[in-house]
Amino acid sequence: MNVLVVDDCSVIRYIIIRTLKMSGLKVEEIYQAENGAQGLHILDKNQIDLIIIDINMPVMDGMDMLKEIRSNREKSHLPVMVVSTESNEKRIKSFGRLGAEFVHKPFTPERLRDAVLQITGVIDEK
Ligand SMILES: [Mg+2]
Repeated sequence: MNVLVVDDCSVIRYIIIRTLKMSGLKVEEIYQAENGAQGLHILDKNQIDLIIIDINMPVMDGMDMLKEIRSNREKSHLPVMVVSTESNEKRIKSFGRLGAEFVHKPFTPERLRDAVLQITGVIDEK
């Protein structure tokens, strides 16, 4: 499984990546981007199986990136996880309507792992 992690905070990206690696999931390539625009560029050039995106980012935020993914003919089906401090119920529901799993920041490693399992349908290998 190749994963794209999009967050403007390098520490959060590091935590997400470390959690993925420790989760027992079969993670191969991990790509990183600092904003939605960079993320879409990487998505365009690589084989990605799971996308994890932050919402509040400069240049292009996670909501715009998610909408772009869902309107892209080839990539619209990809599993997307939104990992954000967002607490507005309406906004959180709108991620769900766009087919994204929502994980609140800060998250526990278990919560992140469970959300990845749920959205990818991958059976735990441990
Ligand atoms: Mg952010």
